[in-house]
This record gives sequence, structure tokens and C-alpha cells, in this order.
Amino acid sequence: MVRVRFAPSPTGYLHVGGARTALFNWLFARKNKGKFILRIEDTDTERSTRESEQMIMNDLKWLGLFWDEGPDIGGEFGPYRQSERLHLYKQYAFELVERGHAYFAVYDKNDPKNVLYTTTEEPKDGNPYTIVFKVPENEIVKFNDMLKGEIEFSTEHMDDFIILKSNGYPVYNFAVVIDDHLMGITHVLRGEDHISNTPKQILIYRAFEWEPPKFMHIPLILGADKTPLSKRHGATAVEHFRIEGYLAKALVNYLAILGWSVDEEIFDYTQKIDSFTPDRISNKNVVFDYQKLEWVNGKHMR
Ligand code: GLU
Repeated sequence: MVRVRFAPSPTGYLHVGGARTALFNWLFARKNKGKFILRIEDTDTERSTRESEQMIMNDLKWLGLFWDEGPDIGGEFGPYRQSERLHLYKQYAFELVERGHAYFAVYDKNDPKNVLYTTTEEPKDGNPYTIVFKVPENEIVKFNDMLKGEIEFSTEHMDDFIILKSNGYPVYNFAVVIDDHLMGITHVLRGEDHISNTPKQILIYRAFEWEPPKFMHIPLILGADKTPLSKRHGATAVEHFRIEGYLAKALVNYLAILGWSVDEEIFDYTQKIDSFTPDRISNKNVVFDYQKLEWVNGKHMR
């Protein structure tokens, strides 16, 4: 059974790049009669807000990208939230220490930058500690990306890295592995800005002796000047298109053809689910063109 997820960090609005990632996951789930899961990655306590989370969920619903499971919130599926799963990350971080793949780093409570000592016994002297993953020396990490083919990294220049912070929160690379594993995620479809994180994640899978999911890294959306799409290029928030009165379907159609080679320029994506196969996603960066968005959808736009 195919299980995929969209895992936004609620640190701002849902932008068209995120919406396209969500769309590809949703289509992949529909096509394979699988499940599409929404996971809110709110472990950055300083930048995550409930307003942003709500906005992202509203936008996904507006686009028609409903998720298939989650905690019951009044007859609807709520999202899974990493901030509500801290006990799990702690439990698994401790397990990695037991397995010999991680250790505690203990800091001076009066000088939190200063590491006093490292140990494999749980520190009980009242000083704050982190849990650090031990990167194996000179190991090759290979994975076969569904879009980009074989990608290889060496651990030669990789340092040990923190997986659990002293405030009890996990770092992204750790939480994502624990959750993808526990949620039974079979395919990870995400932006290619995460390629460099993948070897760290695979090392964590190996340390637990878990099977990693299949990975597909999707090219980024660029602005007309070929730099990554940002506010400089005009409005990129899905919210903007909704407020301006665009039809959700028009935006979704445009996002689909933007990185997916279909023959025609206007189609109803709900009718095209069967033809959604990864080999039709373009492996090149794609340019978001506001004029084309208008043009493709013509008078059906608003
Ligand atoms: N929270 C990450 C992000 O928003 C998700 C990355 C992933 O899909 O693994 O970029």
C-alpha cells in the first residue's frame, strides 16, 4: 500500500512550490490507491505558528488536496503534529544510544556552548544535554532517486550531528525518519533542496536497521529570472490567488503542467490521475510564469 506525506513547516504561508509538492504527493496517492498524509513539522519553536498551520490547511482544502487520515477533530481529520510526538523522538534517540549509534553531549549549565563531556549513560547531574548521532567513518551512502537516478555521498566530510536538542525537541533530519518510519511512508516526494539531507536520513535508517522509503526529489520552481521563486517575483502565496479570486482548479492545473509533461496545456487534473507517473515529471527546474498561468486558463481563470 502506497503511503505518502506532505510535511510543511508552519513558518509562513503555503507557497506555490509547497502546493506543487503537495499536489504530486496527492496525485501519487490517488493513482496508486494509497494514502496521503499531512504532517505538520513544527519543531522550530521560534518560527512555527498555529496561524501558519491553519493557513496551510485552509489552502490545501481550497485546492482540493484533502488528506486521508489524522486525529479526529470534530468529525474531520486533523494533522499529525511533531510537537505532539516528542516522547517518541526521545524514546528512539535513547534507543540509538543503546545501539551504539549515538551519545549524550553534556553542557555546562552556566555556559551552554561549552561541552563538558560525552557519555553513553544518561546524564543525571542536572546539566543540559543533547543526543548526538555518530556518523560512521568513510561509509558510502547511495540511493536511487525516482527522478534523478543514483545519488552517492561519502560520510568522509560529515560530522556527527545533534538529533535531540537540550529542550527535548528533535532536529528535522531525525524527526522525519522516525515519523516516516512509524507512519509507514513508502515514498518521499519532496523538493530537491532536501537532497543533501537524504544521506543523513539514510544513515539513521541504517542505524535502526529500518528499510528507507523510496525518494523522489522534485526540481524547484524558479521565477522568470531563473532564480528560486521568492517574494521578489511577485505574489507566491496560494492565499494570494485565493483572495484575488482565481479558481483553485486553474491554479492546480497550472501547477500540474508546470512540472509534468502532459500533452495538452489545459486539463482537469482529477481526470488525469491514471497518467501520473514519476517519469512524466520534468527533471529540470521549472519557471513560474504569471502570464502563462492566466493564458493557459484563459477566461476560466477567475
Ligand atoms: N518540513 C520540511 C519542509 O517544509 C519537509 C521536508 C520533507 O518533506 O522531508 O521543507
